[in-house]
Amino acid sequence: MVATRIDLHTHSSCSDGTDTPEQLMVLAARTGLDVIALTDHDTFAGIAAASKMVPECGVTLVPGVEISTSHQGITAHLLAYLPDLKSQVLPDLFEKTVQARQQRMREMVQRLSADFEISYQEVLAQAGSSPIGRPHVADVLVKAGYFPNRSAVFEQVLATSSKYYVHYQAPDTIEAVEQVIAAGAVPVLAHPRAGGRQRRFLSVDAIAQLKEAGLFALEAFHPEQNQLEQAEVRKIAKLLGLAVTGSSDYHGSGKPNQLGECLTAPEVFAEICSRGAGELLRP
Ligand SMILES: [Zn+2]
Ligand SMILES: [Zn+2]
Repeated sequence: MVATRIDLHTHSSCSDGTDTPEQLMVLAARTGLDVIALTDHDTFAGIAAASKMVPECGVTLVPGVEISTSHQGITAHLLAYLPDLKSQVLPDLFEKTVQARQQRMREMVQRLSADFEISYQEVLAQAGSSPIGRPHVADVLVKAGYFPNRSAVFEQVLATSSKYYVHYQAPDTIEAVEQVIAAGAVPVLAHPRAGGRQRRFLSVDAIAQLKEAGLFALEAFHPEQNQLEQAEVRKIAKLLGLAVTGSSDYHGSGKPNQLGECLTAPEVFAEICSRGAGELLRP
């Protein structure tokens, strides 16, 4: 049977999604997907749990990840599919990211504690098993009664212009593409023109450099890219000789994106499979 419904970008509760990897697989089956890629932010933590559900759900699982990067001050998300599972390149990169984020949050809480009675331990406890970030600081400040809600905290003390804010340096996008290639995986630039998410995008020249480094495709069909933005992504892909993918970027109830809302063409998926060093997890 030729796989036809292929969604290559989803998140579980191992990053910022709300469904567990198991629930995600059950939903994939119910939604009629043939193939799903689990691409949590900067972690492979959900892959093992999702893979256990493959036989029962009858949905092929593509091990993947979405890497947070930046290039010349512009945020870019890089999807990576089918890494060689023996490679330590990406796990090492994610460990560095975790360390850098923790250090940054420590510094931010330190600055805040001059004016608010909060501690890093409280923020850590608030984060629980998820990667520590500004939302957890916000929740602690709300619990302590300093602010009515998360968004008030973000506006008043966690904005990039705030004196409490500490900058976080994500890995450079070009280096990240090189590392994805070194790990035997297939790099795809996620939502490169999603205007609702950011105002500045990687230039065509920068994307051309990513292609030089081994980028395979651009994510064109995405719920947060409108028709015009999708057309622009396809134009850039055509110009640079890159493939295009489509996916939902499903986050559970955390976002309106519906699983299977945007899909990837079977021939593009076949090319990803032939390039990736890792194995698909088939039912
Ligand atoms: Zn993203
Ligand atoms: Zn995503």
